[in-house]
Amino acid sequence: MSLESTCAAIKAAEQRAGRPRNSVRLVAVSKLQTGKRVAAVLAAGHRLFGENRVQEAMERWPTFRERQGDISLHMVGPLQTNKVRQALKLFDAIHSVDRVSLADKLARGIQSLGRAPELFVQVNTGEEPQKSGVPPTEADEFIRYCQGIDLPITGLMVIPPAWEEPSLHFALLRKIALRNGLESLSMGMSGDFETAIAFGATHVRVGSAVFGKRPYP
Ligand SMILES: *Cc1c(COP(=O)(O)O)cnc(C)c1O
Repeated sequence: MSLESTCAAIKAAEQRAGRPRNSVRLVAVSKLQTGKRVAAVLAAGHRLFGENRVQEAMERWPTFRERQGDISLHMVGPLQTNKVRQALKLFDAIHSVDRVSLADKLARGIQSLGRAPELFVQVNTGEEPQKSGVPPTEADEFIRYCQGIDLPITGLMVIPPAWEEPSLHFALLRKIALRNGLESLSMGMSGDFETAIAFGATHVRVGSAVFGKRPYP
């Protein structure tokens, strides 16, 4: 795969699902990829990227941004409360709002910096103990909590359990979003983004299919 083939696959999946063209945004997840690979995807004209660690993103993106002003950067990994201010300065969206302490910290940070990223509540639809995200049974209450403290939540995010059929999780996420009036759905990775698009994904987070296999340390 490559950027080009991923974009073509997204377009075809939009079409099959009877969805408008360009209704799905590709978040190219560059975590652990070499600078050279990232530079190539930037040179090809792509501008929306995802990272899963604040530290790694801070090391890489300010330099790319000096060269290319219109880059959008999304935080897709778990966020520690002590990194909230850095994250708010760096990212245009955060896909992993998943607990009251983080919501409170984000609300205060947004107030004091006067800048709000796009925010997604992460839902742990598989109820996996090691995974971040609010349990699906607590999602409505948590979304209401966020709205109550003026945190502008616009969508939901899910990472389905690795060994389960993802469709059920995508369908559940969509259902929770619909009943809460949220429009954005961050779902689908390299292995299942076409399925996610059929279930209404607005943001697919694709890493290895765009950049190649990550060189794991
Ligand atoms: C790494 C990562 C992805 C991309 O995974 P691929 O399988 O390489 O497409 C998507 N979402 C999150 C939260 C990730 O950490």
